[in-house]
Amino acid sequence: MTARLDHRNPLVFDTHELGRRPGALQRLTRTVDAPKDLGIPKVVGVPEGAPLELELRLESVMEGVLVTGTGRARAEGECVRCLEPLQLDVEADFQEMFSYPDADDRGRAHRAEPGDDAEDDEDRLFLEDGLFDLEPVLRDAVVLALPMQPVCQEDCPGLCAECGVRLADDPDHHHDAVDIRWAALQGLADSLEPGDKDDKSGAEPGVDEKQEK
Ligand SMILES: [Zn+2]
Ligand SMILES: [Zn+2]
Repeated sequence: MTARLDHRNPLVFDTHELGRRPGALQRLTRTVDAPKDLGIPKVVGVPEGAPLELELRLESVMEGVLVTGTGRARAEGECVRCLEPLQLDVEADFQEMFSYPDADDRGRAHRAEPGDDAEDDEDRLFLEDGLFDLEPVLRDAVVLALPMQPVCQEDCPGLCAECGVRLADDPDHHHDAVDIRWAALQGLADSLEPGDKDDKSGAEPGVDEKQEK
């Protein structure tokens, strides 16, 4: 279904050195160029080619290789409130099991829980010739680690709704027109108050109760 893994791809790791003896451990660090689309599309992400530091711990277990690690990089995006460009350091932790293809049945027996075997199976990742591709795992972890609504500063006041100026640059900024709008909204709210004359045709709770008894 997928093309064979290429060991020259910097996000492909080789487990041959680790071996298959359960309990064997290997630690790796590697700095790679970030792959493209690493982040939340159109919101915030690590630019393609930016340095991405990886720290990995590979552990040989019965059914495969358990990979635990952290990716660190600098993401770029823009503030959702004031639209200023921003940068933030992202640290993404991940843990994933890469199963031996021949350990399929045993793995399934261990992890079988009612109702989730089909889903589980699809999500499982396998070693291919002793190699695994970290990219999908890393991608999920980075997306989870990034804020869905990045802000340039915690209390960014955003943009003036009236003229679009960045309020953080001009805290005392205001327009009188805003007050007029508020007054108009207030008037609208008053006219929507419950208890209007139209409601009399409907049943009032108190009346209903009397009729039923
Ligand atoms: Zn902002
Ligand atoms: Zn304004």
